[in-house]
Amino acid sequence: MDHFELRNGELYAEDVPMARIAEEFGTPVYIYSRATLERHARVFREALASLGKIHLAFAVKSNPNLAVLRVMQREGFGADVVSGGEMARALAAGMPAENIVFSGVGKTRREMLAGLEAGIGQFNIESEEEGVELAQLAEETGHTANCALRVNPDIDAGTHEKISTGKRDNKFGVPIDQAVAMYLRLASLPGLNMRGIAVHIGSQLSDLRPLELAFEKVGALLDQIRHNGGTVTHIDLGGGLGVPYKAGEVMPSPAEYGHMVARVTRGWDVTLMFEPGRVIAGNAGVLLTEVVRVKRNANRDPFVIVDAAMNDLARPALYGAWHDFDAVKPSGNRMTANIVGPICETGDTFAMGREMDAVERGDLAIFRTAGAYGATMASSYNSRGFVAEVMVDGDKVASVADRILPEEIYAAERVPDWLND
Ligand SMILES: *Cc1c(COP(=O)(O)O)cnc(C)c1O
Repeated sequence: MDHFELRNGELYAEDVPMARIAEEFGTPVYIYSRATLERHARVFREALASLGKIHLAFAVKSNPNLAVLRVMQREGFGADVVSGGEMARALAAGMPAENIVFSGVGKTRREMLAGLEAGIGQFNIESEEEGVELAQLAEETGHTANCALRVNPDIDAGTHEKISTGKRDNKFGVPIDQAVAMYLRLASLPGLNMRGIAVHIGSQLSDLRPLELAFEKVGALLDQIRHNGGTVTHIDLGGGLGVPYKAGEVMPSPAEYGHMVARVTRGWDVTLMFEPGRVIAGNAGVLLTEVVRVKRNANRDPFVIVDAAMNDLARPALYGAWHDFDAVKPSGNRMTANIVGPICETGDTFAMGREMDAVERGDLAIFRTAGAYGATMASSYNSRGFVAEVMVDGDKVASVADRILPEEIYAAERVPDWLND
């Protein structure tokens, strides 16, 4: 459910015609819908309403834009962050430090210190080495770090291999069969307040079964830790719910997810924590682009060359991901074409042999479901700038990230004196 719909034959973002956004802000441009973000936040919260004590942390990596974080903050969400930069953003967006969870396998000493000084709510520790380092740092600086141990349940999430995180061979978490002993050792360290277990097995999950298996393993671990005298008050169930990228595709609903979680976690007597990203932001954003030209080669589908490229929206090049592509003013005619960007890489391809709205040079079109893992993965490859981002709210539209021009990027580059003589 989103607010990017046809009205009188042209696409609107809420009450704003997309053509007007292109005119005012140029293309390519990401458009986020506040109403869609809020709706997704509320549906997710309602789906978990029967669970008792819960903590919701928006996965900042899915969309770290300050205005998006602000919407989530106003909806009562905290943040799941995976770097010092994301932590700084969450704080800048007004999220209370105690609502921030710090995940990630490679937290540096500097990042851990920043987290301790800010007083963040929880560190999700991904190795014993990390826990020992954090304990020392906390002790040295007079802090106590609330911690959860992230376990790797060795479960195939059934998603794309590059976004699977819960298999034994993945770098994330500690092997679940070593977790009891490790948890108890870490709990004995001054500086740490071991209070929980965390799990996150992957992203864009289209089936609840792997999640359920992972949660069952966490439940067994919870019993074992308690049985051995450990204290567990928080369990972080991560994120991962998939979203439909193709019209008509059906994904597990937040309500079905909520029922599954209620069933598996019955009797746990903990605060349950969640870290949704894509399911909140994915369908709340589109990437608006203009057709540069249509290149017709003999005997094959034409290339529709758009002004957006793999540096602006990396998912198709990275994962072979599908994004629906719709004309802003569809004529009703259809065509089969390859949709590509202008970058000098064959990988700069959004779709091959796509059945789509017929478009011509100068037409506007959108890639849908670009609100998560979109702008945040951008690069400046081919000396392209960083795309602008706008947010709509009813009939209002505002820039939430100005376009960064190539010359602003190379302004940070220097030619040393000794190259000038
Ligand atoms: C990426 C990530 C998430 C969010 O995943 P989604 O699939 O976007 O919901 C949550 N927790 C952790 C630890 C992550 O790395």
